[in-house]
Amino acid sequence: MTTLLISDLHLHPGAPAITEGFFAYLEQTASQADALYILGDFFEAWVGDDILDLPEAEPTGSAALVKRVAAALHALSRAGTAVYLMHGNRDFLIGKRFAEACGATLLDDPTLLDNDGEPILLMHGDSLCTRDEAYMAFRQKARDPQWQAQILAMSIPERLALAKQIREQSGDANSNKAEDIMDVTPEEVVEAMKTHGAALLIHGHTHRPAIHDLALEDQPAMRIVLGDWQPDQGWDICLDAGTGPELRDFPLDAPPGA
Ligand code: MN
Repeated sequence: MTTLLISDLHLHPGAPAITEGFFAYLEQTASQADALYILGDFFEAWVGDDILDLPEAEPTGSAALVKRVAAALHALSRAGTAVYLMHGNRDFLIGKRFAEACGATLLDDPTLLDNDGEPILLMHGDSLCTRDEAYMAFRQKARDPQWQAQILAMSIPERLALAKQIREQSGDANSNKAEDIMDVTPEEVVEAMKTHGAALLIHGHTHRPAIHDLALEDQPAMRIVLGDWQPDQGWDICLDAGTGPELRDFPLDAPPGA
């Protein structure tokens, strides 16, 4: 049983090298796995699943990108790799329709994964960054189904304008640099792991890829942070039966064999 986890690809039409690297990763790496978990900020922005209704030739290039990504994930899932999608803080409006187009299952944040009897807590990671109070307030609003319904009732151009406005209002949200993204609050990490009874937490979001050893009530525990993808470098975590979790970085033109 091989399980792969990735996050923070921030796919958008302006970063074709990452998109192509993702397709290479699906073909060469994910196709060998039993499951692929995408833990949020898969897309740089998401204004609604009805982007699938736009003609591929629309000028922003978003519709063409989204349709290619959905088709590639659907092919992967048809070939036998289960695909799971979790929301990030940038693509929290991804809905069931897009998930279905990908042959994927949408996951709650957090989700407890049973890895051969070992519970692993999966999160995007933004909910752990509680010191960013302005963002936490926005997060609460943005996860409200009523607010989401109001937004989704707007036209696509109106939503694109609103997304731009939100990004401009928040300096942090305008940048993908790790130093501009607040790091997790250590106490929140411990609290979440204790609540869910997991000695391993995997998340992304902070763009600070690392393996952190910690103690949970005197027992050894671990937090592994996925890296954000760059035009020349990807990151994943490989969970293989019998071996410990492996955090890997790789050149996007030569992803690992499994
Ligand atoms: Mn994020």
